[in-house]
Amino acid sequence: MAYYANIIIDISHEKLDRTFQYRIPEALTAQIHPGVCVCVPFGRGNRVTQGYVVEVTDRAQFDEERLKEVISVVAGSVTIEAQLIALAAWMRKNYGATMNQALKTVIPIKRKSKAREKRKICLCMDRNAAQEQLDHFRKKHNTARARLLEELLNHSEISYEVVTQKLNIAANVIRALEERQIVKVVHDLEYRNPVSHFSHTGYQAKLNEEQQQAVDAALADMRRGVHKTYLLHGVTGSGKTEVYMELIADVTARGRQAIVLIPEIALTYQTVMRFYGRFGDRVSIMNSRLSQGERYDQFLRAKNGEIDVVIGPRSALFTPFLHLGLIIIDEEHEGSYKSETLPKYHARETAIARAQMAGASVVLGSATPSVDSYYKAKMGEYSLLEMKKRALEQPLPVCHIVDLREELTNGNRSILSLRLQALIEGRLKKKQQILLFLNRRGVSGFVSCRSCGYVIRCPHCDVSLSLHRHGRLLCHYCGHEEPAPVVCPNCASRYIGGFKAGTQKIEDIVKQRFPQAKVLRMDLDTTKGKDGYEKILSAFANQEADILIGTQMIVKGHDFPNVTLVGILAADLSMYVADYRAAERTFQLITQAAGRSGRGKEPGEVVIQTYNPKHYSILAAKDQDYQAFYRAEIAVRRLLSYPPISHMMLILFTAGQEEAAGAAAAYLAALIRKARIDRLRLIGPASANIAKVNDIYRKVLYVKHSDYGQLVGLKDRIELFLKDRADFGKVNITFDFDPMNGV
Ligand code: ADP
Ligand code: ZN
Ligand code: ZN
Repeated sequence: MAYYANIIIDISHEKLDRTFQYRIPEALTAQIHPGVCVCVPFGRGNRVTQGYVVEVTDRAQFDEERLKEVISVVAGSVTIEAQLIALAAWMRKNYGATMNQALKTVIPIKRKSKAREKRKICLCMDRNAAQEQLDHFRKKHNTARARLLEELLNHSEISYEVVTQKLNIAANVIRALEERQIVKVVHDLEYRNPVSHFSHTGYQAKLNEEQQQAVDAALADMRRGVHKTYLLHGVTGSGKTEVYMELIADVTARGRQAIVLIPEIALTYQTVMRFYGRFGDRVSIMNSRLSQGERYDQFLRAKNGEIDVVIGPRSALFTPFLHLGLIIIDEEHEGSYKSETLPKYHARETAIARAQMAGASVVLGSATPSVDSYYKAKMGEYSLLEMKKRALEQPLPVCHIVDLREELTNGNRSILSLRLQALIEGRLKKKQQILLFLNRRGVSGFVSCRSCGYVIRCPHCDVSLSLHRHGRLLCHYCGHEEPAPVVCPNCASRYIGGFKAGTQKIEDIVKQRFPQAKVLRMDLDTTKGKDGYEKILSAFANQEADILIGTQMIVKGHDFPNVTLVGILAADLSMYVADYRAAERTFQLITQAAGRSGRGKEPGEVVIQTYNPKHYSILAAKDQDYQAFYRAEIAVRRLLSYPPISHMMLILFTAGQEEAAGAAAAYLAALIRKARIDRLRLIGPASANIAKVNDIYRKVLYVKHSDYGQLVGLKDRIELFLKDRADFGKVNITFDFDPMNGV
């Protein structure tokens, strides 16, 4: 068979989708795969040019005769571009997307922006003369000139922006002094460095025994050149960050680089400062608030070897370090590591793939590891490192469970249980701080009973049904439908319906009940604006408020030593999302929230308010017992063949016409059934969780198989099949492997 290579001649971003096709001579077939650098004849003059192979195919785009041939493979040095292209090809293969979408994900340089020119204003006469000038300006009431000169006498040089923006001195004033040769404006090129204002203290904690053991275990492998994936399971406050930094220090000392992934929401001043304190300006950050130009600069700095460590969310995984030695994924259980745009990659698996290509190690850290990762650690695919004690030997907090059904029976219809109210009262007296956490994840219309806690579930899928228009309850896995009940099928109470409560409402209730308390609220509304989020956190850290109310935003890795009480207002809300990971999320959120309590000198307490006091995820979270949770959860997954026991591929059909999407889904479903793949299970077609977005209808098929490779193979066959089917043109079909956040 003849093979063809699609080649990018110029990697600069704009031309990513401009590939050129070449014939692969038979002698080179074995050597050519995505990422390889090749020499090809280019243009009319057939000038020999280098390019990168992005795809190998057996389909000629044009007339075979018109295609030129690849000349040779460029041997030797592997460039960073080659590594990233190979990674993009891996992502395309494993998650389904076009090569172009995959490339744009790994090479996210939108355009070349000019490095910003930095201007400074300096004094260019001696101090005595300047002092004389200053007196002169004052006498003549040239206040602006006088002010600038005065500042320069104090500081000798000041950045141009500071002068114009902070001191409010106009450009013409500067020009006037420049003309009189009193000051001069100096230009110098500098890279934008978003963290340069932190101080480099070189501080490093003396590791405790557990920390040292974890570090030693990983370093022993790395120094032998063995690169593995480690799961660092350390309770909240066990000092995982210190472990990361110790490993990074070793890796960078050996001339290699490290990437630290952190959920965007935890990428706070506090975290960055700790890294900067230890590594100084060899560290840089990436986040969504950086401008396009700043991002590009970070890539350049990484590529040019000016930094060794990058901290950032998911996308920082593609930092172009040529000698990558270590990738750390903190809070590895977080849903935000899964991309929601094509290719729908998971940063964890992708990090492992990148590390394998680069000869690097991966450390996944969490107090509540994902069931997926823990399962892999148990099966020996990852190495497990454990830290069971808090770093400063503080005891884990004492947790109380409050049964909300009993509160209702006892006549308390407030969202604050009597126990929680009493504890808040006590903390306010002692001037200790309180976090109130509203678990709002997934208030997606499930229906529950306030008297008995009963939740309406799908008889086939063990996920909650969600309420749709006209009072219909719908299962988003199998399409099962039934009318919403008027009274509880379990206890006949009329208190059955959708659960609604927002942070704002809770703030009102808290203020009314505790008028003496200072209350802060953190949610999407109060954190708008550039540093809104950071401002609330630091106000609370500075003890400007007694109570902080918030959603998942407040539980992520923050360290408030004066917090000794955490109230979890409705622990179950995340339990009823139409998602097989609901119990896992519930356990994680409660454990993480509880972990905010008692991190300082005073011991902490936690109140968990729930309708399900006997549910294993609640009981295990109360005891901070990950093992107990895992054992119960993995049994459920095994019973229902959900990941990680089995794998799931979601096929999403979207179209402007509902029938078209439905027909395409039914057609493919029939085809998949006909293929008779052993041990494969097909569920659907059904409407997606969000059945319609902007008048685009969404239908889904779920395919389950214990072997991930079988699912990838099926995806490849479907893609191939679709290539020749113009009649599917109006229906867009995408894939999502082991989906995380519903669809
Ligand atoms: P985790 O990420 O596991 O929740 P952190 O790394 O944030 O924990 O550490 C919790 C607290 O303990 C931090 O304030 C940190 O500075 C402190 N800490 C961690 N390790 C040590 C150590 N070996 N010596 C002193 N303090 C430590
Ligand atoms: Zn009931
Ligand atoms: Zn169902």
